[in-house]
Amino acid sequence: MEALRVLELYSGIGGMHQALRESCVPAQVVAAVDVNTVANEVYKYNFPHTPLLAKTIEGITLEEFDRLSFNMILMSPPCQPFTRIGLQGDMTDPRTNSFLYILDILPRLQKLPKYILLENVKGFEVSSTRDLLIQTIGNCGFQYQEFLLSPTSVLMEFPQTESEHPQKHAIDAEKKIEEKKIEPNICFDSSTQCSGKEAILFKLETAGEIDRKHQQDSDLSVRMLRDFLEDDIDMNSYFLPPKSLLRYALLLDIVKPTSRRSTCFTKGYGRYMEGTGSVLQAAEDVQIETIYKSLTNLSQEEKITRLLMLQLRFFTPKEIANLLGFPPEFGFPEKTTVKQRYRLLGNSLNVQVVAQLIKILCE
Ligand code: SAH
Repeated sequence: MEALRVLELYSGIGGMHQALRESCVPAQVVAAVDVNTVANEVYKYNFPHTPLLAKTIEGITLEEFDRLSFNMILMSPPCQPFTRIGLQGDMTDPRTNSFLYILDILPRLQKLPKYILLENVKGFEVSSTRDLLIQTIGNCGFQYQEFLLSPTSVLMEFPQTESEHPQKHAIDAEKKIEEKKIEPNICFDSSTQCSGKEAILFKLETAGEIDRKHQQDSDLSVRMLRDFLEDDIDMNSYFLPPKSLLRYALLLDIVKPTSRRSTCFTKGYGRYMEGTGSVLQAAEDVQIETIYKSLTNLSQEEKITRLLMLQLRFFTPKEIANLLGFPPEFGFPEKTTVKQRYRLLGNSLNVQVVAQLIKILCE
């Protein structure tokens, strides 16, 4: 197979590029596009040879797109307009503008790409933006598949739900009208096959099923968090401050190195305590129930002393990258702060999940 020429839109720290590599599909990223300078520094650090356009997508003309002569698009449009907890501005959210621009450009390209992979959050699949996407690629003659998935359901071994995207929504579109084979290691709980040549829709587990699975810790096929932890870190910089311990003790999602699950890590991780991602109990032998039960009627100082015994710490950015399936050699430039790293990772994706999707797409 001739190497694909890939256009990576909304490239961020390069989760899509990383996934493309992991998929082993022969390909070359001919251009990556993102406006975020901090993300772009991380991208360049990891993919120094890839042409990176540090500009808005709306600033790229049809002619410029044509000149890139790509045959695959990988993209992760901003997800805030579609998150269930957000305002769901959908098409009216200005952050969707660049994507509408892409949909406008697509049919006018000199040569349509052969493959498109789009990744977004749960919520996208019910948006009008998604309907417009389906309509546009349908008119262009693409065949497509949609997936609603979670790392534990696809890979069986990854303990974490994806960054800000507890359940991901992805669309594989292919300019090809033949039946698709599905990877045998991906199990489809329910599938809907639409009649006609253009659409095959698949759904991977219902939201309820995924949520239930994440509350459990008993699925032994999922790897323990221990496997994703760094060995030599300065723990002191990651311990939760005593003030937070006191205030948020009961709201934290606490996991141990032997746990096989965590909540998703969002971009506020390390800064905000509630609902932004699990924290790790480094003192494994301490019984958390005993600590919590003993807290009543204690003075604040005594409470803090007890809670400190758990040695609760944040996961490091590198550990989150590991959980997202980034390879060991993935790194950050030194000047990227820890907070920035959390933010960027919170926007990224599970590399191994997307690698599987790319394989399905190009099969
Ligand atoms: N998949 C990426 C993250 C995508 S998050 C990763 O692995 O890191 C969405 C990205 O789109 C952000 O990095 C944001 O800076 C970028 N972005 C948002 N609007 C844009 C626009 N109009 N033009 C170019 N990039 C944009």
